[in-house]
Amino acid sequence: MTSAPASTVLVFLDPAHPDGRVADASVPQLMATDLGATRGDGVFESLLVLNGKLRKLPAHLARLAGSAKALDLALSAPDAWRAAISTAVDLYLETHPGIDEFVVKLLVSRGVEGAGAPTEWVQASPAPALGKKQRVEGVDVVLLDRGYDSDLADRAPWLLLGAKTLSYAVNMAALRHAHSIGADDVIFTSADGRVLEGPTSTVLLAHRDVNDDGTVTKRLVTPLLDAGILPGTSQGALFAAAKAAGWELGYGPLEPEDLFDADAVWLISSIRLIAPVKHIDGKVIGSDPAVAAELTAELNTLFLGIE
Ligand code: PLP
Repeated sequence: MTSAPASTVLVFLDPAHPDGRVADASVPQLMATDLGATRGDGVFESLLVLNGKLRKLPAHLARLAGSAKALDLALSAPDAWRAAISTAVDLYLETHPGIDEFVVKLLVSRGVEGAGAPTEWVQASPAPALGKKQRVEGVDVVLLDRGYDSDLADRAPWLLLGAKTLSYAVNMAALRHAHSIGADDVIFTSADGRVLEGPTSTVLLAHRDVNDDGTVTKRLVTPLLDAGILPGTSQGALFAAAKAAGWELGYGPLEPEDLFDADAVWLISSIRLIAPVKHIDGKVIGSDPAVAAELTAELNTLFLGIE
């Protein structure tokens, strides 16, 4: 068996250890019969620690609770999570002096078969180099059909469309498909032709218009949040910051044409932050690179400024 990188920190939630139980990531820690491993039955969150600060913890804890509720999983109390997260973050910072960013994952599986109690743990590990690269260089994206209508989430709650479950095999397969045809990432569309989300990101677009009186209106738009997509904590935080900075906000429904007509399109998520979309299905996005760059710079400033 290959062991986890030495730089991974693991902290299990454990009633006998109020601050969490630190575990050795280089040796096996999960039972082979854990339903997270055998069925992908569980939920998770990925957070970024940037310059020593954990970003958007309340929003991630709230979404973790929402995902757990959708799966009928009983989570430990938020205080137990906060304590274990704090242990993991402190230990990671202590063992990686000077590190500017790393990832903290919150993981919950349905637990060992027959045990009836979830397995809950926090993992701190290096930030993927790819996310950092995409922030700077941008991404080429392909549209891929997810095969169901944008109103399916309400009709079929058992599909768990708005929950962040451990079953990411489909999302990873879509990314591999994109890579196999020379693209970096994916924007899923619905069977009824709507723009949904990326496999690990939320889609944003913007328009910048100069009004007759010379003032500038900037409008930031994302797909409808109830279109069977994961409500992004990054999108939520950025929208709040953009509104406070005078941007107009909009929520879909969006079609691919809206992406091609936009001044700029981005994929946003907690770990990669904001990645500008350069091409979609080979077509250049945005008619003026200077406008796109200005909008990206402004959104980056707003997003990096959030707590
Ligand atoms: N949509 C999906 C399917 C995701 O997996 C993610 C994050 O991984 C997002 C959207 C963006 O969510 P957040 O901004 O909370 O990271």
